[in-house]
Amino acid sequence: MPEPSNQEQKLLGLFPMNWRFDMASVPVIRWLLKRRWFPMILILFNMFIFAVILLSGVMGGFSSGNYSFGIMIVWILWWVLLMMLFVPVLSRTWCLMCPLPSIGEWLQRLRIFDVNNDLGGLNRKWPHWLRNMWLMNFLFLGTTFFSGFFTVRPLATFLLLGAIIVVGIVLSLVFEKRTFCLYVCPVSGFQGLYSNMAATEIRAKNPEICAKHQKKTCVTGNKNGYGCPWLLEPHSFKRNTYCGMCLECFKTCPFDNMAFNVRAPGTDLLVDDKRGLDEAWKSFIMLGIAVMFYTAMMGPWGWLKDWVRGNTFGGWLSFVGLHTLFNLVVIPAIFFVFVWLSRKASGRKDVSLKTVFINLSYCLIPLGLAAWIAFSFGFLLPNGSYILHVISDPFARGWNLLGTAKFPWTPFGTSWLVPIQFVTLFVGYVLSADFGYKLTLQTYADQAVARRAFVPLLVFLTLAIIAFGWLYGG
Ligand code: SF4
Ligand code: SF4
Repeated sequence: MPEPSNQEQKLLGLFPMNWRFDMASVPVIRWLLKRRWFPMILILFNMFIFAVILLSGVMGGFSSGNYSFGIMIVWILWWVLLMMLFVPVLSRTWCLMCPLPSIGEWLQRLRIFDVNNDLGGLNRKWPHWLRNMWLMNFLFLGTTFFSGFFTVRPLATFLLLGAIIVVGIVLSLVFEKRTFCLYVCPVSGFQGLYSNMAATEIRAKNPEICAKHQKKTCVTGNKNGYGCPWLLEPHSFKRNTYCGMCLECFKTCPFDNMAFNVRAPGTDLLVDDKRGLDEAWKSFIMLGIAVMFYTAMMGPWGWLKDWVRGNTFGGWLSFVGLHTLFNLVVIPAIFFVFVWLSRKASGRKDVSLKTVFINLSYCLIPLGLAAWIAFSFGFLLPNGSYILHVISDPFARGWNLLGTAKFPWTPFGTSWLVPIQFVTLFVGYVLSADFGYKLTLQTYADQAVARRAFVPLLVFLTLAIIAFGWLYGG
């Protein structure tokens, strides 16, 4: 029996994947999206917050993390918002307001609000062999080597953010447009991959209008805005992965043909467009880091905590080696065994093992995202109240700017923490299984074959959720 098309698919058999509601069809929202000062005012606001974060990082130096503005805002508030709200619901909306690449972009444009499509800088093209997620995979993994310092040493957060800003400026002066965001920024890759799961998207509305529009001003830019800074063709791209949601195409399209859609979560997981091993490994790395972080930070193994925090150099090197091996080799190797079994069960030799491996890896995204959300609850509920303190006393100077500096440390809802984490993980498991079956069906294009080939994948996902359950409940 042939596979149903993506248009006929339903999420969990209930919610049609082809349903869309264009928020920009509401006049006031479209009006807002077309203003030049939006989202620039959000960028300027966040630039102020990040300036305070950087300053507090220097002033906090080696002090304890709980009373550091930088650590609390970046690793509690920002990270939680990113994983729980921005990525799963609003796709790459953080990129829309991220201040980190802005200085480089302003230097290219020599403008902040106005339009100048005659961009400065060397405008070089990024090497073809680097136009993928591999560099971001390694950089993000490399960043996590220092995870034991980021949450306790304000200076480490300062150095990380400072390095991102400096590299962003240098690359903006050498390479075209948002090359840095597309191929280098360590925060970008996982947002791109996980935004396939998002409940929103930006897409062109009517392809016939685009076909007739010779100038394609969403690509070239015009007096109202810039040609897509993320080097996409806004009229025809198909997945959220590389759309930075900068809203320029809403300003440059003379026919108001761009939509900001609400849709079924995970719709892009079924879009077979530019899938690759780089994205497969991104999903392994994200899953592996979630496991490793939880094990190190919340688990009972003191020796592992000592390794991660670098109490001894040898211990830290052991952590780096173990962490790298686990993420880059062990998880992919285990997944490969189940993919091999899946292809064997299908009896189909005409579909390559590589195709099956890449396609099925996308079903790990819901589970990975759920693991990160569950992990985020683990530090939001016990430690969230510190935020009230640091916003009143950002430089640990005894200030009480908003009258909340004396708010005591108050864990919130911690007796519900484990049940909340279990429910979150279970939802991720169910969605992964649902998309796993859909991806198997898409890969083999035959329902009877797909049912057989899905069994090993379901076993893998079930073993993974049991392991998570043991980890979070143990
Ligand atoms: S500018 Fe608008 S109509 Fe023209 S190609 Fe782009 S999205 Fe389509
Ligand atoms: S201009 Fe490009 S990056 Fe910006 S919202 Fe449109 S498609 Fe996305």
